[in-house]
Amino acid sequence: MNPKRNALLFAVALFIILFVVLTFIRNYELSIVPIITSNQTSQDSMPSSYSPDVSLPSKRYTPKEFAIVMGPKKLSDKQIKDHKELYAGYVNKRNEIDEALQTVDKSKANQSYSQLRGLKVAETFARNGALLHELYFENIGTGTTMGEKTQQVIVKNFGSVQAFKEDIMATAISARGWVLTCYNLDDNRVQNYLLDAHNETVPVLTIPLLAVDTYEHAYMIDFGINRKEYLNILWDNINWNIVEERVKQWEIS
Ligand code: FE
Repeated sequence: MNPKRNALLFAVALFIILFVVLTFIRNYELSIVPIITSNQTSQDSMPSSYSPDVSLPSKRYTPKEFAIVMGPKKLSDKQIKDHKELYAGYVNKRNEIDEALQTVDKSKANQSYSQLRGLKVAETFARNGALLHELYFENIGTGTTMGEKTQQVIVKNFGSVQAFKEDIMATAISARGWVLTCYNLDDNRVQNYLLDAHNETVPVLTIPLLAVDTYEHAYMIDFGINRKEYLNILWDNINWNIVEERVKQWEIS
């Protein structure tokens, strides 16, 4: 055998073997790369429970303006101005909480403590805080007398306007947050309810007709701790036209 020819044959054989091996490795890589990529793409595109849902943009709420005109015995401008600023704070917090809920990690939900729990509790506090103050600022202001429909409904449910006044005053003395005169959707009665905070002891299936803020911040600038004096002045400054509108809106009889 020619040694040169043997060396050439060996080199050719080695080249063929290397070619076959490299081709096999390349084909193998090509065959698994799409699988890995496919899995990664699939996982990346899977909906995550704590990704923001871009189809539900958070809504921005704006504090409303209220032109409150009171009689000779009234709440001071300073008392009302500070109270309105407090109300605006609830509206702003409502917006902040609404946004935070878009991205909160729901996988960490826990009843002892979790960000979701904190936001959900705060959500009802801020939401009701904003809405209850809107009802309150709407229904205070003087220059009106109790409307005919309102009077009929009050007499029907309380016996007399005086009995209604005694009931709402006593309830307001007992409340830590709010008193609401509400229309019950289940039995068509009208009752005074006591709320210990914006989001505590809130009656369900009821429509507020009259809202009275009994938090200390509503009267302490003017009356210190004398809530009765505040309530007496408030009674003389109820905007009964607004209450009448609410009674008519819900066709209460
Ligand atoms: Fe308030």
